[in-house]
Amino acid sequence: MESQILKELDLSCIWHPCTQMHDHENNIPLIPIKRAIGAYLYDFNNKAYLDCISSWWVNLFGHCNPYINAKLKEQLESLEHIIFAGFTHKPVIDLSKRLLGLLDSNFGKCFYADNGSSAIEVALKMAFHASAIKGNKKNKFLCLENAYHGETIGALSVGDVGIYTDVYAPILLETLKIKAPVGENIDASLEALKILLSTQKDSIIAFVLEPLIQCAGNMNMYSPRFVQEATKLCKEAGVYVIFDEIAVGFGRTGSLFAYEQCGVVPDFLCLSKGITGGYLPLSVVVTSDEIYQLFYAPFSENKAFLHSHSYTGNALACACANAVLDIFERDNVLTKNKELSAFIWERMQALRKFSCVGNLRHQGMVFAFDLIGFKGERKGLEVFNKGLEKGLLLRPLGNTIYLMPPYILTQDEATYILDSICEILKTF
Ligand SMILES: *Cc1c(COP(=O)(O)O)cnc(C)c1O
Repeated sequence: MESQILKELDLSCIWHPCTQMHDHENNIPLIPIKRAIGAYLYDFNNKAYLDCISSWWVNLFGHCNPYINAKLKEQLESLEHIIFAGFTHKPVIDLSKRLLGLLDSNFGKCFYADNGSSAIEVALKMAFHASAIKGNKKNKFLCLENAYHGETIGALSVGDVGIYTDVYAPILLETLKIKAPVGENIDASLEALKILLSTQKDSIIAFVLEPLIQCAGNMNMYSPRFVQEATKLCKEAGVYVIFDEIAVGFGRTGSLFAYEQCGVVPDFLCLSKGITGGYLPLSVVVTSDEIYQLFYAPFSENKAFLHSHSYTGNALACACANAVLDIFERDNVLTKNKELSAFIWERMQALRKFSCVGNLRHQGMVFAFDLIGFKGERKGLEVFNKGLEKGLLLRPLGNTIYLMPPYILTQDEATYILDSICEILKTF
């Protein structure tokens, strides 16, 4: 009853993200959630939904995690938020020191923003600005086909997922794109990159890519060799490299950061999503002291990077991020994830018996398959709705079904998820 009232009130005044609101007339339910704890969301009838996608890839250690809650409350007692120009605070200093300690020694400075798309904007602007300070006349970004880097105009410009970008094409920046690598098929992409660099390197500011997995691009997983080779080629050509680890950072691909598996370090690293354990919006662009120094000059030289967001460096968000790093240290998360990942992957093999399941794949704590043979049908939506009936929060990307669970998932929960998916697929 209360649930129905909330739903109606919501629809009377709210426009939801990434949603054709018309779908709420009959295709997709709108579910008011009363509370969430651990890996579960509970609705007003106390029905539980197992969060198989970490609430849009942000929630690493469960909802209402007792440790993060405690750290957040503690922070709330002393400082919630202050202007971050000319003022600073301990949570953000601690966080920056800790991040830099976990990252390659080439990184030296953290620049904060408050969401993933903004981090991409920061990285794009910084890369352009750095190249301009160096006296270059470069004006184009390079990205991969099928890429996703967020929803603001700059971020959309270096993206290539048609449902998000196409209508805005007339107002996007002109960018260069190369074929995305797929699995071990990386040669054609590298070849395209070489050709572009040989002909246009003088106009290319930076190459932006999601290392190892194009997440919103239907979980396209590809070889670390591509990241390595491509980064080397760009560096040789004097083109900056931006790694968008907004989705894959913080343990998602098996290592704390995906670039660690690639043997190369980018000029700019964008982090967000998991950084606060899914609690509060925060993002950071990490870069080298060398790049920082390009901007460091007397004010009159007009070299300052004047980008800002009101909520930059929010102390509550930083306290959550510090708590997340505590948990990584304290609980040996990466080692445990390896076990859990192997377990889920083994259970997933049961899906191979279905003829509609194709391209079963995994990397760290990301698992995916495609529903094949349903071109033009919104079959993923059916999986979403049937998943809800079984108490699963799945949110397929088109007809790609994936799991990106919180790291606290138990083996029993993983088994329940995969058994349920099998039951759903039996009806297809
Ligand atoms: C989610 C995402 C973004 C955008 O982050 P927002 O916080 O949603 O703006 C950018 N890049 C990647 C790879 C993402 O997954």
